[in-house]
Amino acid sequence: MTEDILYSIRNLTVEYRTRAGSVQAVDNVSLDIRRGEILGLVGESGCGKSTLGKALMRLHTGPARITNGELWFDGRDLMTLSDREMPDVRGAEIGMVFQDPMTSLNPVQKILDHLTETIHTHEPETSAAAARTRAEELVERLGIRRERLNEYPHQMSGGMRQRVMISLALALRAKLVIADEPTTSLDVIVEAKFLDLLRELQKEFGLTILLITHNIGVVAEVADRVAVMYAARMVEVGDVRDVFADPKHPYTQGLLRSVPNIKLDGGELYKMDGAPPSLLHPPKGCRFHPRCPFAMGICSVEEPSLDAVENDHLASCWLYRDVAVKQEARNG
Ligand code: SF4
Repeated sequence: MTEDILYSIRNLTVEYRTRAGSVQAVDNVSLDIRRGEILGLVGESGCGKSTLGKALMRLHTGPARITNGELWFDGRDLMTLSDREMPDVRGAEIGMVFQDPMTSLNPVQKILDHLTETIHTHEPETSAAAARTRAEELVERLGIRRERLNEYPHQMSGGMRQRVMISLALALRAKLVIADEPTTSLDVIVEAKFLDLLRELQKEFGLTILLITHNIGVVAEVADRVAVMYAARMVEVGDVRDVFADPKHPYTQGLLRSVPNIKLDGGELYKMDGAPPSLLHPPKGCRFHPRCPFAMGICSVEEPSLDAVENDHLASCWLYRDVAVKQEARNG
């Protein structure tokens, strides 16, 4: 693992048991998260992006379990840590912000207690006064007046609760924040402010952020790089400017064409044909082939690996493989 990579995910598979049978909700996914970047993870509902986010904290319980892979976080393989060791990593080193913070905040506990309790759990030597001062400074940095620390979660707006979740991660100087659909429940004005805040925190604290969203427009706003998932697999990864200017994978091309655009000027918005496959019976080969306008013979037979197409720009697509395949596409 090179110095600038904070989290290296290798061949990760997460199995999910449903009544109808087991599915691989994340299937053999590899991805690097670089120190100090905002990495946007996008894809349609059910593609596995939230399952991947939880797996990075080994948060799976019940029907989900990691069946394969390595999770190298800051030099340690988290898969080798015991269940008793993991809580020290969660919260202290990796913070998580969910779509609905009410599910993570205790409704009968004041915001101040959330913060001081978190600090004392991971740093028992910190005095009560020092923990309080840290909590006050943090929330003020995030634009919440310190008096509001005495309020309960339900007394705050959705945007404020999201900021409280971030302050919990910052209270322990977490190295990575995983934000799962953090703006979905916010209106556009609050969303814009929240995205600005993420950018500021990234710069000020050198924070690394994995931003999971179905909204590719949000990724365009704040991310440095983008990773695109389709049907439990990673299909494209690259610098956000490169991917938006020249998307390589036909699925990413379709996603970008489906984004509402002011230049459309009343024209029809593009709609991708078909729907993502059931993970109970995923198609053989490239999982996108039943919907792909460029599908070739090989696409339904063999799965292309995720390889560099240009420098740092990776795509899993036969269109960018050997000359014979390209020839088939041209003749096709
Ligand atoms: Fe389309 Fe084939 Fe590329 Fe899959 S591998 S995206 S089916 S061209």
